[in-house]
Amino acid sequence: MEYEAVIGLEVHIQLLTKTKIFCSCSTDFGANPNTHVCPVCLGMPGVLPVLNKQVVEYAIKLGEALNCKINRFSRFARKNYFYPDLPKGYQISQYELPILEGGYVEIFIDGEYKKIALERIHMEEDAGKTIHKADGSYVDLNRAGVPLLEMVSMPVMHTPQEASEYLRTIRRIVRYLGICDGNMEEGSMRCDANISIRPKGETKLGTKAELKNMNSFKHVEKALEYEIERQIAAIESGEKIVQETRLWDEKAGITKSMRSKEEAFEYRYFPDPDLVPILIDDEWIERVKKDIPELPKEKAERFIKEYGLKDEDAKILTDEKALADYFEKAAKDSKNPKSVSNWILSELLGHLNRDGKSIEDTLIKPEFIRELVDLIENGTISGKIGKTVFKEMYETGKAPKHIVEEKGLVQITDTKAIEEMIDKIIQNNPKAVEQYKSGKKNTIGFFVGQVMKETKGKANPKIVNEILAKKLEG
Ligand SMILES: [Zn+2]
Repeated sequence: MEYEAVIGLEVHIQLLTKTKIFCSCSTDFGANPNTHVCPVCLGMPGVLPVLNKQVVEYAIKLGEALNCKINRFSRFARKNYFYPDLPKGYQISQYELPILEGGYVEIFIDGEYKKIALERIHMEEDAGKTIHKADGSYVDLNRAGVPLLEMVSMPVMHTPQEASEYLRTIRRIVRYLGICDGNMEEGSMRCDANISIRPKGETKLGTKAELKNMNSFKHVEKALEYEIERQIAAIESGEKIVQETRLWDEKAGITKSMRSKEEAFEYRYFPDPDLVPILIDDEWIERVKKDIPELPKEKAERFIKEYGLKDEDAKILTDEKALADYFEKAAKDSKNPKSVSNWILSELLGHLNRDGKSIEDTLIKPEFIRELVDLIENGTISGKIGKTVFKEMYETGKAPKHIVEEKGLVQITDTKAIEEMIDKIIQNNPKAVEQYKSGKKNTIGFFVGQVMKETKGKANPKIVNEILAKKLEG
């Protein structure tokens, strides 16, 4: 029997506001425990939360970017549960009236675009953190009250690859929007997955398991792969799948049951009486819309059209906004933007990856890439010398023209000088000439190599090849 997996994801994104959602405490990551707290986020009695307007604007931004319906009227609700890192005994979230509904995330998978439908996106506060140590458990409330947007997809994904591409796309978009840094390892982007399987062709959903604790794209993929196999094996052996929450155990590479449905929480949601409903008018939406930058997909499409880039190259260049901006600065006014893109993708990214650095760290100014391409295009240096110049540029941040002058790397195009050099080489290598004349035409490579050695790679290869062919045939 063939099976099909049905996957829905719940993604929490931590917003890059300066202050928390209902108080003016800082959201900075990594401070000493319990230093970014006040009576509001500590859940003291008698205090009142005040909504951070920026959170609503970030939600509107995301809603616009993902074609969601922006609800003009939405409301906060209390989600009641007990946990040591939740001092109020409830989390302020949204329930029956979320700020955003519908919309979709467009992912690129198997060579085409696919829309992953969203159910809803709502605003909520984060809880604190419980830290378990050998001598006991500790609670850090710096994170309590940090704003989150929870994005709930419809159960419309069918493979672990689709799920991870969905996450990567969200990460790219929220980073472009500047509303979240998308760092899964630090927990600023978190993901839970609902997964069930069913016989292929069946339309009814199977019993689902909820997976938690996956803190990288790779782990999401692995956990889903494991869970699909586990569920299929269970069904085939006649076992019944129970609805439960399972934790991904990264070290063991398996998912483990955490709690069953019978123990599942009953949250007793009700509208939060301390907060007024959120009213959004068209004018507010229009104002926020003006701040939405060109998004990765549109940008990639424009790069293909405007600069004649290959599909795949445009995708890589637009993965990070900083890289896309770098490319555009470099390609601006260039006669050969394709070559600019090649230098960035192969050489610059190659060097940066090797050194574990990002585009923001490079010493090379974008216009230097354009200059380097120009120097090669106008024949001042050869492509091979270009690599030497690039290396120097990467290490020192100097301008390519400067490096070429300083190191005397200008290409030798003086036909007469090259001809004289070739005459000498031919004279000194009668055996190789013999070989060439006996039909071993690839011996020409040896002669080219000799000329390049003599000129330290500076001879114009086209001229060298032309003269060599003429002389050797003659
Ligand atoms: Zn506070």
